[in-house]
Amino acid sequence: MVASAEGARVNLARFPRRRYTPAPTPVEPLSHLSEHLGGPEVYIKRDDLLGLTGGGNKTRKLEFLVADALEQGADTLLTVGAVQSNHCRLTLAAAVKEGLKCRLVLEERVPNSYRPDASGNNFLFGLLGVEKLTVVEGGSDFNAVMQAEADELAAEGRKGYIIPGGGSNALGALGYVACAEEIMRQSFETGLAFDQIVCSSGSGGTHAGLVAGMVGINANIPVTGISVRAPKEPQEAKLHALAQEVADKLEIRGGVPREAFTVLDDYVGPGYSLPTEGMIEAVRLFARLEGILLDPVYTGKTAAGMIDLVRGGHFKQGERVLFLHTGGSPALYAYQDILSD
Ligand SMILES: *Cc1c(COP(=O)(O)O)cnc(C)c1O
Repeated sequence: MVASAEGARVNLARFPRRRYTPAPTPVEPLSHLSEHLGGPEVYIKRDDLLGLTGGGNKTRKLEFLVADALEQGADTLLTVGAVQSNHCRLTLAAAVKEGLKCRLVLEERVPNSYRPDASGNNFLFGLLGVEKLTVVEGGSDFNAVMQAEADELAAEGRKGYIIPGGGSNALGALGYVACAEEIMRQSFETGLAFDQIVCSSGSGGTHAGLVAGMVGINANIPVTGISVRAPKEPQEAKLHALAQEVADKLEIRGGVPREAFTVLDDYVGPGYSLPTEGMIEAVRLFARLEGILLDPVYTGKTAAGMIDLVRGGHFKQGERVLFLHTGGSPALYAYQDILSD
């Protein structure tokens, strides 16, 4: 039994884990931004400062996923992402750190968006020594492509381990259950009680893990996810299903209620990774007021959503809002033309 008699507790220690970040990531006030916006007190959780090359949220998921890969005797990590995928960069970085090989499948979610000479994460795939890159069209059956890679490796006497897109299965999402615990511990130690959390909602492991964690430890701070791709309804349903799997793994009694999920899809703009005015404003505001780099695909749009919510009076004066910075700044260098003045 994992749940203790007096109520909800989660026991993450029984899952194998590698450590890629030496300490909790900082929680910092965004004083200049808060003053500029004139609304609630905005704080930031610096998951952009997680370990592995360039940091970002996938590092927390990979601590559990790579531990599982090693336990299964894998010698090669296989995963999939968009052409500027932070998840692919970090999976490759974890492979390098563990002495494993890594093969990546890149999905062209925007037609013809793959450029072999592109900067940003694409440049880092080569620099970090990816073993093989396969580019597929948007909407293709990339799982079949990864399985074919795994079969090819098996035929050579090697062993591949397939990590799903974004590392977003129940095992990967445990990384964000751990983050929920970390936030609550920091909140207690600093005496800062947060009223709301805002995060990105993409492949979903971050948002679903955070909510499952909050429910599991009975902290229940409302989390608003800003979608970077999918419409609200299917995204909320997907998150709920994933959180239920996490709840099963951790034996969280009563599971995670559907109502715990709020996704806003108003900030996607024309599509995944395509720029919006709000994103450009948010990236510039964070840079110029706080010296913090956001990214154009995820945190820029998420911050644009949060800023719009503040301006629209969604948060009460005096409330404390925690913005989860999930990383991604290495992608900035592939968007210089859009973000330069
Ligand atoms: C992958 C990613 C996200 C989205 O997280 P999911 O767990 O896929 O929902 C947010 N921000 C950055 C920088 C990412 O790379």
